[in-house]
Amino acid sequence: MANCFYHEDREAAARCAVCGKGVCEECMIIDGEYSYCSEECKAKAASAIDRSNDVLTEKKKTGNAKLVRKLIYIFAVLLAAAAAYFYFNQNQSNADKSVKQIKNGFNNSIKEAKKLVR
Ligand SMILES: [Zn+2]
Ligand SMILES: [Zn+2]
Repeated sequence: MANCFYHEDREAAARCAVCGKGVCEECMIIDGEYSYCSEECKAKAASAIDRSNDVLTEKKKTGNAKLVRKLIYIFAVLLAAAAAYFYFNQNQSNADKSVKQIKNGFNNSIKEAKKLVR
């Protein structure tokens, strides 16, 4: 291993996890399982971790949105099937009432589904 970036006469005990500089035991800054050559590099590493966390949350959100779209599609198909069933099998006034009930249930389901993405 190379010598310490700050002490040319000392052997490096670790490498900075961000810039790769060798540092001796006295110079290295240990944070959790990683060591860094300076506070600056430690801060860089922290912001990189924050960014990757953001990406993870972003992915989660997109996953939920997809799920909700799928649910809405399923509800829409069910609503259409139920409406068709009532129109073809019952008299007109009963069918209108039933379709109205199904529509209310459908709207409530969408509201519930939308809560998932918030
Ligand atoms: Zn560094
Ligand atoms: Zn040193």
